[in-house]
Amino acid sequence: MKTTATLMALLLVGLTAQAQQVYNRTLKLMGSRFDISVVANDEPTANSNIDLAVAEISRIEKLISSWDPNSQTSKINQNAGIQPIKVDPELMDLIGRALVISKLTDGAFDISYASMDRIWKFDGSMKEMPSEEAITQSVARVGYQKIVLDKANNTVYLPEEGMRIGFGAIGKGYAADKAKKLLQDKGVMAGIINASGDMNTWGKQPNGEDWKVAITNPMNKDQAFALVPLTKGAVVTSGDYEKYVTFNGIRYTHIIDPRTGYPAHGVISATVFAPSAELADALATSVFVMGIEVGIERINQLPNIECIIIDDAGNVHTSDHININQHEN
Ligand code: ADP
Ligand code: MG
Repeated sequence: MKTTATLMALLLVGLTAQAQQVYNRTLKLMGSRFDISVVANDEPTANSNIDLAVAEISRIEKLISSWDPNSQTSKINQNAGIQPIKVDPELMDLIGRALVISKLTDGAFDISYASMDRIWKFDGSMKEMPSEEAITQSVARVGYQKIVLDKANNTVYLPEEGMRIGFGAIGKGYAADKAKKLLQDKGVMAGIINASGDMNTWGKQPNGEDWKVAITNPMNKDQAFALVPLTKGAVVTSGDYEKYVTFNGIRYTHIIDPRTGYPAHGVISATVFAPSAELADALATSVFVMGIEVGIERINQLPNIECIIIDDAGNVHTSDHININQHEN
C-alpha cells in the first residue's frame, strides 16, 4: 500500500514536471509594452501570478511617474525651489541608487536630465542646429549633485525652481526587478519580464535550457547577429535607430548628454547585461552618453556587467568578458 502511494506520488511529480509550460501576457504599463512570461503547471496559476506582477508594476508606476501629477515624483518636481517633500523609503532608496550611478558615470547618467529645456526635436522639424549659448543654457538646471536627500526625515528637495527629476532611464528596469522578486518570493521558478525589450529573467526554460535573447543590429533589423544565453539576469538595449537629426554630417541621437546639452553621437545602440534590470537599464543609457571608449572602459571595471555597442557605421564593440560567438541563425 505504502509502496503504491509512493509510486503514485512519484508518477504525479513526473507528470506535473512534464506539464510545465511558459504562459505569457502582453499589456501596456508605464507607457510601454510589457510582456510577462511565467513558467507554471496550469493556466489559472500562471494567470494569478501574472496578475501579481502587473499589480506590482502599476504600484511602482504610481510612485515614479512624471506624468501623473499626484505621484510622489511629481510632488518633488512641483516643489522644486520651494520645499523638501516627504516620500516613501522605497523612492528615497531608488533616488539614492540613481545618484550612485551618476557618480560612477561622471554624470552621464542623471535623473535631473528632466530639468533640461527641450531644444532638440527629433521629429524632422529642426532645420538648424541650436546656438552654443542656447545649448549651454538648456542644461543650467541639471545636476545630480544638487539633489538634497535627507535620509533621517525621508525627504527629497530640488533646490532650484524649474528643476525636475525623471526615471525614464531606470524606472522600467526597477519595476521589472520588483515584479521578478515578488514572483520569486511566491515560488514561481522561472519567467521573463520584458519591458519593451528590457529583459529580466530568472530560472530556466521548461526544457532545462537557459533563456536566450537575440541581439539585433539596428542597421539590419531582420538579422539577429547573436543569440546570447541569459544567465546574468537582465539585458537592456538603449537606442532608437529612427530618432536622430543630422547637422554638418554628424548624426545626433535622441539621448542628450545632460552635462553638455549636446545629443550623444557615435553610438546607435548600447546593450548592457547586468544582474539587475535596474542597473542594466541605467547603464545602457549611460554607455550611450559616454560613448564607445569611455563606455567600455567603465563597464570593464564593473563585476558581472557586460556590454555590446553598435556604432554609427554598424561596427560592433564589446566589453572584455563577453562572448557573442554564439551566432545561431
Ligand atoms: P530608449 O528607451 O529611448 O532607447 P533609454 O532606455 O536609454 O532609451 O531611455 C531614455 C530615457 O531616459 C529618455 O526618454 C529620458 O526619459 C531618460 N534619459 C535620457 N537621458 C538621460 C540621462 N543622461 N540620464 C538619465 N536619464 C536619461
Ligand atoms: Mg535606459
